[in-house]
Amino acid sequence: MSAESSNDPVVIVGAGLAGLTAARELVAAGRSVHVVDKGRGVGGRLATRRIGDARLDHGAQFFTVRGNDFRATIDAAIDQGIVAVWCRGFDSHDGYPRYYCPDGMTALAKWLANGVRSSGGTISLGERLASISTTSDSWQLLFDSGESLKTTDLIVTSPVPQTLDLIDAGSVELDADVRATLEAITYKPTVAVLVTLDSAPSIPSPGGIQQSEADTFTFIADNQQKGISSAPAVTFHANGSISAQRWDDDPHVVLTDLLAEAQPWLGAATVVEAQLKKWKFAGPHQPHADRYIVAARAPGTLVLAGDAFGGPKVEGAFNSGLAAARTLLV
Ligand SMILES: Cc1cc2nc3c(=O)[nH]c(=O)nc-3n(C[C@H](O)[C@H](O)[C@H](O)COP(=O)(O)OP(=O)(O)OC[C@H]3O[C@@H](n4cnc5c(N)ncnc54)[C@H](O)[C@@H]3O)c2cc1C
Repeated sequence: MSAESSNDPVVIVGAGLAGLTAARELVAAGRSVHVVDKGRGVGGRLATRRIGDARLDHGAQFFTVRGNDFRATIDAAIDQGIVAVWCRGFDSHDGYPRYYCPDGMTALAKWLANGVRSSGGTISLGERLASISTTSDSWQLLFDSGESLKTTDLIVTSPVPQTLDLIDAGSVELDADVRATLEAITYKPTVAVLVTLDSAPSIPSPGGIQQSEADTFTFIADNQQKGISSAPAVTFHANGSISAQRWDDDPHVVLTDLLAEAQPWLGAATVVEAQLKKWKFAGPHQPHADRYIVAARAPGTLVLAGDAFGGPKVEGAFNSGLAAARTLLV
């Protein structure tokens, strides 16, 4: 990983939608950026996995578009074939498009990342940040690899509890009100079951079933009908309370139990392979009202962003990243 560069890049922790959106906005304004992420690929909770010939989205399944900024980005992505309309409602048509990525949801993040790189930004993957600390004139980032980075302007988009762990590991003292605000942000977990099948499941068109927290599964996606998988494959998202209750249980037992619950949607199909994916920080219970927080102004500006700020979900993460970048540009 490169060390501090001569033109003092903004360092962005997280190559999910918030971090990549911030990076894109900053490079477009002529700032130098360096994005770091612990993942092997970009996307964070925009996550797509291959199992055999099947392809499954296992984080975000679809998104809606409300604001003009997100609309402009998604229109550009549609023009390039990165995003398309899945449907206009799952059990009934309400007219509002639900968008997806024909190559899986990570495609949106990859597209943004390519734009950042082609504008001169750099993205380091497989780099887990261990702590954020201070020197007399900069933020210091220490990675598990032993490498370190210094920067004046820092945007952190990891889920807030993870960000607090990084700040505490570096013994940074936050203002009491900032800390109290951050400690109040909590997340619900999601346990996802991913199955590949020998034939089509029993899921009606358009291949997505949205249910309430009272149901075992809040979302069920037929990835083949959705158009991202050439082989039959279904994603099941367990509701928040089941996910929390079963979090520490033996994963094999959880998988077996949830597969039994999933049977009505599998119909006559036989499971070829089943996997469990656990999202500890799937989404905030209650996002903070503002789109970002300036957590500190010395030794440089520390901005916290992500879907915990200003509105949850995909568009909320986009809006947060955009607003975080713009606060560094004024
Ligand atoms: C199961 C599930 C279903 C969902 N369904 C939908 C949906 O249908 N529609 C919708 O709109 N939204 C949905 N969401 C929410 C949506 O995915 C998120 O709101 C959005 O993707 C969050 O983006 P982000 O950039 O804020 O965070 P993330 O995507 O989580 O990005 C944060 C990044 O920080 C990185 N990171 C964390 N810690 C470190 C560290 N120490 N060092 C380096 N890197 C680090 C992570 O690897 C990650 O890439 C869903 C989420 C989940 C989990």
